[in-house]
Amino acid sequence: MPSVAPAPATPPRRVHVTEVGLRDGLQNEAVLLSTAEKMALARALVEAGVLEFELTSFVSPRAVPALADAADLVASLRGTRGVHWSALVPNLRGAERALEAGVDSVVLFVSASESHNAKNVNRSVDASLEGFEAVARRLEGSGIALRGAIATAFGCPFEGDVQVEAVGRIARRFADLGAAQLSLGDTTGMATPPLVTERITHLREVVPTLSPTLHFHNTRGIGLANVMQGLALGVERYESSIGGLGGCPFAPGASGNIASEDLVYLLTEMGIETGIDLDGMIAAARIASRLMGRPLPAQVSKAGPRLALSDCSAVPTALGRA
Ligand code: ZN
Repeated sequence: MPSVAPAPATPPRRVHVTEVGLRDGLQNEAVLLSTAEKMALARALVEAGVLEFELTSFVSPRAVPALADAADLVASLRGTRGVHWSALVPNLRGAERALEAGVDSVVLFVSASESHNAKNVNRSVDASLEGFEAVARRLEGSGIALRGAIATAFGCPFEGDVQVEAVGRIARRFADLGAAQLSLGDTTGMATPPLVTERITHLREVVPTLSPTLHFHNTRGIGLANVMQGLALGVERYESSIGGLGGCPFAPGASGNIASEDLVYLLTEMGIETGIDLDGMIAAARIASRLMGRPLPAQVSKAGPRLALSDCSAVPTALGRA
């Protein structure tokens, strides 16, 4: 078992939050939203100050019907002032579609474990990595950024523990392909604070030029504890989903990504700048909940900000609650 970090470095003063609810969240929800509904949610998030989105995925519409409108959605939202729209692509064909639609960056994704990659994209990890070279060449000179994402980076639902060296090996390939950012995906919520320390420390040794992004799922309730560990290590980039939209395909009823408003609440209370307004995020989370037709797992949008006070005179005395 890896050890937790020694005395933390100073947490970053500013953190970048990428909203992934429209991609990772919706991909794991049974309700299908229309393009107009997705646009309304995206606009509410932009209104709240969100500047970075992982908006959709250019995968097979048959495999992921929830994201079948990828091209229309990107085309409708691109050009929003100051906002960065990225999309996942599994291969060159997906990249061509994403470029045509007008994304700002392309995210290539692969799992750190063979069985998850086989289930996800039906090929070996090395075959995925080899296929990425054509995408990297296609992007050269296009002005469109290349990002990397590693799924099951903290554990695999089929294989269990994932060796940190497997993550490091893929990270090196992404660095060679010219990626500037790399997201470590905790696909089924298997990350723990010691694993966060181990992975970030290793990546800083093997790919010092790659800026890490932490992508936690709250499947086992310690998503924000993992964020705290990332902050202690000085990591400046996190991904989250509004309302905690989404779920886990292997555990019906389990939570999905950490909730964006809960993350923004934590960061704001720590004095870390995000440029995102908590009240605006709570408003966006209510829209998300209404569109999905159910309460979402996030907590701050239910309880309100810490200083959302109750009317003392309206509450009876001697309730006896702790
Ligand atoms: Zn995810």
